[in-house]
Amino acid sequence: MANHETHEFDVVVIGAGGAGLRAAIEASAQGVTVGLVCKSLLGKAHTVMAEGGVAAALANVDAKDGWQTHFCDTMKGGKMLNNWRMAQLHAQEAPDRVRELEHWGAVFDRTKEGKILQRAFGGHTYKRLCHVGDRTGLEMIRTLQDKGVHQGIKVFMECAVTRLLKDGDRIAGAFGYFREDGRYVLFKAKAVVLATGGVGKSFPITSNSWEYTGDGHALAYDAGADLIDMEFVQFHPTGMVHPPGVRGLLVTEGVRGEGGILRNSKQERFMWKYLPEASRKDFAESEEEATKWVDAALAGEPTDARRPPELSTRDNVARAIYTEVKEGRGSPHGGVFLDISYQDPERVKKKLPSMYHQFKDLADVDITAGPMEVGPTMHYIMGGIRVEAETEESRVPGLFAAGECSGGMHGANRLGGNSLSDLIVFGRRAGLGAAEYAKNLGTAPQVSEEEVKEAEAEMEEPFSRPEGKNPYDIAKRLNEIMSDYVGIFRTEADMQTGINKLQELKKQLPNVGIKGTHAYNPGWHLCRDLKNMFICSEAIARSALSRTESRGAHSRLDYPNTEEEKWGKLNTSVFKKDGEMTLEHTPTLTMPDDLKEFFLVKKEPAHA
Ligand SMILES: Cc1cc2nc3c(=O)[nH]c(=O)nc-3n(C[C@H](O)[C@H](O)[C@H](O)COP(=O)(O)OP(=O)(O)OC[C@H]3O[C@@H](n4cnc5c(N)ncnc54)[C@H](O)[C@@H]3O)c2cc1C
Repeated sequence: MANHETHEFDVVVIGAGGAGLRAAIEASAQGVTVGLVCKSLLGKAHTVMAEGGVAAALANVDAKDGWQTHFCDTMKGGKMLNNWRMAQLHAQEAPDRVRELEHWGAVFDRTKEGKILQRAFGGHTYKRLCHVGDRTGLEMIRTLQDKGVHQGIKVFMECAVTRLLKDGDRIAGAFGYFREDGRYVLFKAKAVVLATGGVGKSFPITSNSWEYTGDGHALAYDAGADLIDMEFVQFHPTGMVHPPGVRGLLVTEGVRGEGGILRNSKQERFMWKYLPEASRKDFAESEEEATKWVDAALAGEPTDARRPPELSTRDNVARAIYTEVKEGRGSPHGGVFLDISYQDPERVKKKLPSMYHQFKDLADVDITAGPMEVGPTMHYIMGGIRVEAETEESRVPGLFAAGECSGGMHGANRLGGNSLSDLIVFGRRAGLGAAEYAKNLGTAPQVSEEEVKEAEAEMEEPFSRPEGKNPYDIAKRLNEIMSDYVGIFRTEADMQTGINKLQELKKQLPNVGIKGTHAYNPGWHLCRDLKNMFICSEAIARSALSRTESRGAHSRLDYPNTEEEKWGKLNTSVFKKDGEMTLEHTPTLTMPDDLKEFFLVKKEPAHA
């Protein structure tokens, strides 16, 4: 064990986005020692990119809002596959977590009365998203980071964890390397919280950053946890489609929340065509009614008008755009038009400053003068590590997970704004759960020297093959397979082909090689990341193949209907058994009757 440095903590948190920071703050507040590890620089986590806002039923703008409506919206958005207890805790606790952020120094946009301002978002009955222009994630990260640093949490930056270590069944620590110089590091820990975010880099067009190679999902899977509902991959309807270098970059739903209109190449406002029958009554019937809603929203006044069709759920809008383009009514660069230019330019710049600069600087488009071109981009994974709702502990003792790498909270589809709130609600709970677990542990777990040597050898291996397969070629091929066979619309034949191709490609993994040194060598890092990308891609493809229905973000051309009887109460679960990926369907948790009653209450019309 001579080749690495060693650190010892009660709790190690892997990931310093919203979930990891909130977990570390909470664990540290419980009086245990905490180490916080992140692959990039502190403050650079993916959370910083979040634009639209954080959902919490504060009822500052729509007095009728409450946790019950937020709970129902979340469950309906998730097509009732969500872990109901997580959805309940989330809806109940999000307001306090947002107020806590404000108390810690976050400066939200304000109503005239000085309360936190809330905006509309798809699938939310009321205006619920607390926001800071379109830079909400930046404010959240800044606030949590300041709080964490002042609390004295020890941070390990540009440090990637490659393996979780166990003592028998329970967690004993984690092994990794520093990207800066490749030196190895061992963290001994009583409990580990995974907060590593999502899996976007399995797909070629994604809003996700380079960090999203599904590390936490794969680390947990290898350590014996199960991943649930991995078939549910959210394609955000609006990513940039041009120029090629920024294809996939997110165009926040805030644009539609502020009244952005979607049109095809024939200038048709097509979203009305795609509203599901079950929710059609919740949307404006005509251009006039939609305009009345937007006017009231801009003036901050109540209205009986219903929201515009552009505020349908993400899965629905993504499929609508995909269909318009496929049927030949797309924009010049293969998207559709999103227009906010009919509004006062100064207001657009104030409410959507990042969007204004993003389009101006990257595409030379002035969104206050003309429409943007947008198309679907892989954005979020609902599936993740199965955790227990109260503590976020996985089925591996001492292993906790929160944020995008965990599963259950969002069911078959996530509503916009519900991720940032998920991070602070369940980040806090995971930190609390891990601290309690660490305090109650009798004897400290032991790390096996053999396992550490193995972890080190695994990392060194690619250097022994300087003429080996290029990891970038393998990643590119994996991306193509996922896009071609496991994309927005799926069929059995495609997915089976996709799985076979993934299996074939995976055989190349032992042949990947790398030249150069250990210092900032992204090719070397990718050699390890590829293993995670394969686990996540295979989990997505196998889970998607097994669900023979369409539900939420999972759209099957060969099974277009939602099969309530057969699939309505089943989660998909994959786990490692005898070295192989094994799949099971497990019953969803039964919702208590008092919560079921909320769904029977007749919905009030939305107010602006
Ligand atoms: C452009 C964009 C806009 C969005 N807007 C919104 C929005 O308005 N509202 C909303 O609710 N949601 C939004 N989302 C989704 C939301 O931002 C993410 O789901 C959320 O930030 C994920 O937070 P997290 O804490 O789980 O992970 P992250 O913030 O991604 O943090 C992951 C952390 O894990 C670290 N990490 C990863 N792997 C390793 C490893 N192997 N070793 C060590 N560290 C590791 C990373 O370095 C990072 O620190 C948006 C997403 C995108 C891409």
